[in-house]
Amino acid sequence: MPFQDAVMTGLAPDGGLLLPESIPDLGSRLDDWRGLGFAELAVELFEPFIGDLSREELERIVAKAFASFRHPDVAPLVQVGDLRVLELFHGPTLAFKDIAMQVLGGMFEHMLNARGGRLNILCATSGDTGSAAIAGARNRPNIGIFVLYPDGGTSELQARQMTTTRDSNVHCLAIRGTFDDCQRVVKSIFGDLEFKGRFELGAVNSVNWARLMAQIVYYFHTALKLDRPVAFSVPTGNFGDILAGYLARAMGAPIDRLILATNSNDILARFFATGVYALGPVHRTISPSMDIQVASNFERFLYYRLGSSEALETFMADFAADGSARIEDGRPMDESIVPAAVSEEETMATIGDVYARHGYVLDPHTAVGVAAARRHQPSGPVVCLATAHPAKFPDSVNAAAGQDVAHHPALDGLADLPERKTVLPPDVDAVKKFIATHA
Ligand SMILES: *Cc1c(COP(=O)(O)O)cnc(C)c1O
Repeated sequence: MPFQDAVMTGLAPDGGLLLPESIPDLGSRLDDWRGLGFAELAVELFEPFIGDLSREELERIVAKAFASFRHPDVAPLVQVGDLRVLELFHGPTLAFKDIAMQVLGGMFEHMLNARGGRLNILCATSGDTGSAAIAGARNRPNIGIFVLYPDGGTSELQARQMTTTRDSNVHCLAIRGTFDDCQRVVKSIFGDLEFKGRFELGAVNSVNWARLMAQIVYYFHTALKLDRPVAFSVPTGNFGDILAGYLARAMGAPIDRLILATNSNDILARFFATGVYALGPVHRTISPSMDIQVASNFERFLYYRLGSSEALETFMADFAADGSARIEDGRPMDESIVPAAVSEEETMATIGDVYARHGYVLDPHTAVGVAAARRHQPSGPVVCLATAHPAKFPDSVNAAAGQDVAHHPALDGLADLPERKTVLPPDVDAVKKFIATHA
């Protein structure tokens, strides 16, 4: 499938996930790439996957995507005690999802300009994804976006990051229900192919290949700054971020290992420790973007680990039937991925300790990764991915630090801005009617 079609459809025609036909080995080019800026490196890394965009087009899309970041380095690396922290939160909504969403929004816009037509993005969010998707879609005349979120079910700040957007192509639908209700409604609407086609609906799921591809860049960019193979500690929910690290390693980035850090929703940490993938209850934690049991990108890793689509199908069928499946070939799961599950207490203590010792404020997701990195203490350099700015989670961060430290000017101003949202019942027809009149 050509790259542009893969980006537009998101999923394969049979409902499965798309992967590139082969993973390019770019190890021999590393020395040439050492001095490149983030956007220049992104073009080099994307090019092998893209046959149907010219280099000039790619350069334009990438430059525009990363120009929206507040830091000239896009993803700066800072030293915090023995650890290095990779700040991925300098994008428009202060979370790492901006990196992929800005690229994806730019790709959509380019393709729509070339092919004609319009795209109406429909998505459900429990928090960060919605605002990053809105930031990726706003200001693009041929794109509309409809975001469903549980009314009162996100933090006040997360809701305001969405509802204070002024653009008329952005529609925030506050659903009187839970996040699961929002997802059910979205799924059902995507299942109505006639409606989907008529209103040109599209998705920005974390399984979209362009999102993964965009995330490979910061692994290379960081590894190239250091003179020895590096370990990355990755706060993990849907397995997208860490899968990008796994692919970067396969493409030749000098990565020693990946520390898979989960909160108490530890299904993936248990899998990498035991080979058993078994559903547990969902716990609500102070790192809500990782409160996930079934990780949508994990199937992609399993495909590589199991070696064939047939073996993957059997594994997933077992899991669907029993809520549990097991890898039984006697080989280790993957020695490059080291699991660690971090409790709420340890997360809070890590925020408090790092602030007291180094004056550096971690957000709760980042703190999960830092706690996991401290536990493992690998011999070489360790980089902890900072996936959100602490000001996005002020209650837990301030409580853990013991002081009012969680601020960012872009968020402090939100309380005074007018909100724009439509409250709807958790009802498929009500949402369809809204889309039909606003798409
Ligand atoms: C989405 C998110 C994560 C988890 O990333 P995955 O790709 O789902 O593993 C971690 N931290 C923050 C702040 C996020 O928004």
